[in-house]
Formats: sequence, C-alpha cells, structure tokens
Amino acid sequence: MEYEDKRRILDWKNWKFSLKLPITLLLVLFGVLPMMLCAQTVVSSFRQAQIDARMIEVQNQCQILSSKMTRTGYLQTENRAVINSEIEIMADVYNGRIVVVDQNFKIVTDTFHIAENRTNIAEEVIRCFRGENSSSYNRDRHYFVQTIPIYRDADQKKVDGVLIMTSSTELILALADGVADKAFFFQIVVVLLLLILGVGAAILLVRPFKEFQHKLDHVAAGDLETDISGGLYQENRDISQSVAQTISKLREVDQSRQEFVSNVSHELKTPITSIRVLADSLMGMGEVPVELYREFMEDISDEIDRESKIIDDLLSLVKMDKSEAEINIAQVNLNALVEQILKRLRPIANRQKVELIFESIREVTADVDEVKLSLAISNLVENAIKYNVEEGWVRVTLDADHKFFYLRVADSGIGIPEEVHDRIFDRFYRVDKARSRETGGSGLGLAITRNVVLMHKGAIKLSSKDGEGSTFTLRIPLNYIA
Ligand code: ADP
Repeated sequence: MEYEDKRRILDWKNWKFSLKLPITLLLVLFGVLPMMLCAQTVVSSFRQAQIDARMIEVQNQCQILSSKMTRTGYLQTENRAVINSEIEIMADVYNGRIVVVDQNFKIVTDTFHIAENRTNIAEEVIRCFRGENSSSYNRDRHYFVQTIPIYRDADQKKVDGVLIMTSSTELILALADGVADKAFFFQIVVVLLLLILGVGAAILLVRPFKEFQHKLDHVAAGDLETDISGGLYQENRDISQSVAQTISKLREVDQSRQEFVSNVSHELKTPITSIRVLADSLMGMGEVPVELYREFMEDISDEIDRESKIIDDLLSLVKMDKSEAEINIAQVNLNALVEQILKRLRPIANRQKVELIFESIREVTADVDEVKLSLAISNLVENAIKYNVEEGWVRVTLDADHKFFYLRVADSGIGIPEEVHDRIFDRFYRVDKARSRETGGSGLGLAITRNVVLMHKGAIKLSSKDGEGSTFTLRIPLNYIA
C-alpha cells in the first residue's frame, strides 16, 4: 500500500460510515455487556455457594461421625465394623476418602485401603491434635480436605485421633458448568435478538434524516420552493431552519440576478434604440442639410458614449463582485488624491455653474486601493455636480481620527427622498429616470462606490431630504486588515 493510502486510512476524519452502524453497535453493546457481566457473576457465585454448602454439610457429618467414634471408643477397641461401614457409606456419598489417624499418627482406617498402618504427620493432623479444626479447598485440583479431632471422652479434653475427609467437588463443578452452558446459550440468543432490534431501531432513528435528505435532493435539483421545515427531532428542525434561511438567501440572489440581467438588457437596449431611431429618421429624409446631419450624428455619438459608459461601469462592477477581486493596497495621501479628482471635475462643475470646495481638516494618509477609491470618490462628486441646482455648491471634507478617515461629499442639490435611501445603492436604481439619463448616468455609480467602500472594510452613509441637498459620508479604516 502506498504511504498516502495508509495515511488516509489512519486519518479517522476520512472515515465514512452510516449513522446506523454506531447506533446498532451501541445498542448491542449496552445490552450485551451488562448481561454478560450479570451471567458471569451469577454462575461464579452459584459455583462458590454450592462448594461452601457442601463443605459445611461434610463438616457436620464428620463431626457427627467423630462423636460417634468417641462414644463407641473407636480408637480403643478392635471392634470397628459398624462405624467402619458408616465411614465407607459416608465416603461414597460425598465422593471422597476418609482416613482415621490414631494418637501415634498411624493410619488405622482408610476407605481407599491403601495407606493403612502407615504414618501421617501432615501439618493439619498435628494441628488437629492440638484441637484446631482445619478446612481447605484446592481450587486447581477440585477437592477439599477437612480434619476433625476424635476426642477420648465426651468432655472433649483429650484428642485421641484425627478424622481426615478428602472430598472431590467435580460433580458440583459439572453442575455449575451446565448452568454456565445454558447461560451462554441464552446470551447468544439475546445478542442475536439485540442485533435484530438494533438494526431495526437504527433504521427507524435515521429515517427522519433520510426524509430530510430527500427534500434537500429536490432543492439541489433546482426546486427552491420545496418545503423543508419540520422533522421529528429538534436537531432536524434546527438544521432545516438553517438550510431554509440559506435557501431563502439563494432565492434572493437568484431573483436579484434575474433582475440584474433584465436591467442590463434594458439599459443596453435603450441607447441602441435611440441610435436606430436617429439613423432611421436620417435615412427616411430625402435631401438633408449638412447641419442636420451633423446634429443627428452628434446625438448618435452621445448615445454611443452612453452605451460605452454603461459597459465600462458594468465591467468594473462585475470585477469587484468577484469574491477574489484584487485589491491593490498602498499608502496614499488622500488630500492629494481628492485635489486631483476635484481638478479633473472642475471644468464639468464650471459648466454647470456649481462651486467645488475642498475642506481638508487634516493631512490624511491611508492604506487604500488608489484606483478604486478614486472611482468611488469621483462617482460621489460627479453625482453631487449632476444633481445640483444652478449656482449651487459641492463641499468635499476630509477628516480622520486614530482609526478611520472620513470623507464627506455634501451638495446643495435636489436631494434624495428619504423613502428611497435604502434602494439608492442598488444597481440601476435611479430616483428620476429621465433626469439621470439626460445627464448620461448609467445608474451604477453608487453601486460601484458602495462596493469599493465595502472592499476597504468601510461604511457609507447618506443623509438627505428631498429638495434640501444630500450628504454622503464614507468611513474607511486607515489601516487595511485583510
Ligand atoms: P446615475 O448614473 O444615474 O447617477 P448613481 O448610481 O450614481 O447612478 O445614482 C443613482 C441615483 O441616485 C441617481 O440616478 C440619482 O437619482 C440619485 N442620486 C445620486 N446622487 C445624488 C445626489 N448627490 N443628489 C441627488 N440625487 C442623487
């Protein structure tokens, strides 16, 4: 395997699996683990309880036997047949071996009949002669050993011998194993059941998300009107609410795009229609004097200028609309920049008999895109001249604080009614369509200005009243932060 492939597999962020998988696994895990623990605990305590009960039972029986031996003087007499047969029966019943040792550590009775007359000086036997009972369980070899003292008299003062009982627990363990086998079988059945239930639950739990995805597929296919609200889970509802908001934004964008395209077509068609009318009427006239020709041709040339301005403005707007629009930031002296713009526009202002005033409160240098900002300021000053009154004025003020610079373009012009302030920056929006066309406006100037300001992370504000002049204020950070 290539190193890249291995890395991709190891990176868990690349893993993809259905939500059903963790749901099923968790359900099975949460069901199976406690059940297994429970079964394990029950089986092992059952096993221990059985062994404990057997040891107690055997001890009691041995004690009864030892008392009988004391009573019948078993170790003192040779006539042991009755007790011996009882010893044999008991050894058989408890699946074990009974050995009796006398005072000289000599084995007098052995139910296996292999160690009689031999000596047994095991530690437990010695301790038992001192009066200590012992009981021990050999877990690995599955048997327990108990030693019980045989007293000489009923007053239990002198120990005459020791009864050693060795008993196997194999049968008990086999019984416990049988229970464990049954429990294991039961566990397998429960695991299978849980698996089936888990898969079913996972399918049911994931269904609301599937339904949501189907609705989103419709949206992706282009049907923006699909109702995606609702859903069983709160999470579902929250997601569909966020997606619905996104879709409604998309719808707005789609609508404004359509509006833009139809506006563009209309705007581009208007000068062409005028040109056609002018040309047709020229051609329709027979003998035309040269002056009239010239007049018509001048009109046609004006219309061509208008068309070309619309196209230029459109291009700059489209360029700025691109998210990766390039912005060439440099330190620019804004006082000089404004002076330069005003110098260029002064002839137009003079023609309109409008006074252009520059009020520089302080020297301002800022990080800006010189070309774009010039365009934005020019648009504002041009508008202030265009929509002014005769003998009017335009005042451009430049000021700054420690963070921003402020550029204010105020005029004594016709003003902008308050109810259209929201729409004034929209593309192709004009208050007075006829007047704007007359002055050669494309209806894109303010849209371009706003875009430039936003690209500089600034803000633009308008304050104006119909008939009382307008003031546009730009607030742009002195230092550009990308
Ligand atoms: P235009 O090319 O038509 O001037 P703009 O986007 O620059 O387009 O301006 C949009 C509209 O806003 C103009 O048509 C005009 O009606 C109004 N407007 C802009 N600036 C002013 C102003 N200083 N005074 C009055 N009206 C203005």
